[in-house]
Amino acid sequence: MRLSRAFLPTLKETPAEAQIASHRLMLRAGMVRQTSAGIYAWLPLGWRVLQKVEQIVREEQDAAGAQEILMPTIQTADLWRQSGRYDAYGPEMLRLKDRHEREMLFGPTNEEMVTDLFKGYAKSYRDLPRNLYHIQWKFRDEVRPRFGVMRGREFLMKDAYSFDLDCTGAQKSYRQMFVAYLRTFARMGLKAIPMQADTGPIGGNLSHEFIILAETGESQVYLHKDLLEFDVLSRPVDYDGDLSPIVDFWTSRYAATDEKHDEAAWAQVPGESQVSARGIEVGHIFYFGTKYSAAMGLSVNGPEGKPVVPEMGSYGIGVSRLVGAIIEANHDEAGIRWPDAVAPFKVAVLNLKKGDSATDALSERLYAAFAPDAIYDDREDRAGVKFADADLMGYPWQVVIGPRGAAAGKVELKRRATGEREELSVEDAITRIK
Ligand code: ATP
Ligand code: MG
Ligand code: MG
Ligand code: MG
Repeated sequence: MRLSRAFLPTLKETPAEAQIASHRLMLRAGMVRQTSAGIYAWLPLGWRVLQKVEQIVREEQDAAGAQEILMPTIQTADLWRQSGRYDAYGPEMLRLKDRHEREMLFGPTNEEMVTDLFKGYAKSYRDLPRNLYHIQWKFRDEVRPRFGVMRGREFLMKDAYSFDLDCTGAQKSYRQMFVAYLRTFARMGLKAIPMQADTGPIGGNLSHEFIILAETGESQVYLHKDLLEFDVLSRPVDYDGDLSPIVDFWTSRYAATDEKHDEAAWAQVPGESQVSARGIEVGHIFYFGTKYSAAMGLSVNGPEGKPVVPEMGSYGIGVSRLVGAIIEANHDEAGIRWPDAVAPFKVAVLNLKKGDSATDALSERLYAAFAPDAIYDDREDRAGVKFADADLMGYPWQVVIGPRGAAAGKVELKRRATGEREELSVEDAITRIK
């Protein structure tokens, strides 16, 4: 993308309504614009990050054996009456009527719809286990939408739903998602800790929230320090094998949100290993047995010829919230510091003297070498403006090209995360970044 032609409405002033760093930076860097309370348009830079986050989520869901589908945003009230949640859900649900006065709603979650969908297909125990997921916009009419995309009213969620023959199978599905979540967040450069959690309106008996630590987090959390030091990605995972050792490592060390906090168990954790902090919920997994399958009449023919009601779980990730959460974890005074995996562009090519033929030619050459994962600052602006914008937008690498270097075949490379700068030949710069 050429900055001279890009739709990147950056802001000079810090927007007054934004209380936390990620919200301020997303507005200043021109990633999103609020169109009405808690509802956002994603602009080119933000949209690219959202898609990168989404793609990591997708790859890890697929690797764990879940299958992607796409369910609608609009649902009928009838489905929710079957589960009993239509009245129970309350004012967070956006309710609508169609022209025939039929009651509809904008889905806040999809347990009912997916159970009904699966019911139309699953006849026998051979149709189990299955895990279906989609990445779809949700609407929850939050009392206090705030912190930008972190607590929006319309937001993008990955939600998966597992169907198993029995409790043993359902626990295996739960562990698969548990491990997939650890990997998903680690690939985004986040340390997300699974914590015992309340099951809330989804119901059920086993549940973990995945929480990243940040001062601006809305929940108080307590955890064992070991959990912050574990390297999740160092070992490959066999999803068909026994995942209990991995899950046990995480669940045998103390980690709980304030709702589940147990002072007696906490006191057993040695003082130097106790971490109490604020946290942001980025994912949440539930095992709830037959709550929805029973209520909605889903049953299959079991191995002994008798009907069996499948055991279910559901597994959410806040895809759009993650964009804010990643910035909360990766920024400084100057702006965002994107982890490589989710950066909108990996490289920014900064042309410090637009109009100088040698500088222009070298800049074009480098831009071509890194495209399409590169942004080219070809604007007729001062160097200071270009440096400030590149820092604000947080590209992991900056390649700086000026007339002196262009004459000598040299460029300056800056690593945004560390601030390190180096003068390199053009070839070395290309191999360093690739
Ligand atoms: P919260 O406690 O923050 O209200 P929740 O527990 O109501 O979230 P879940 O029903 O567990 O949310 O949904 C799964 C995931 O969707 C959450 O872990 C979170 O990452 C994301 N999410 C929930 N509500 C919002 C929202 N209003 N804006 C953005 N993401 C959200
Ligand atoms: Mg909520
Ligand atoms: Mg919650
Ligand atoms: Mg939750």
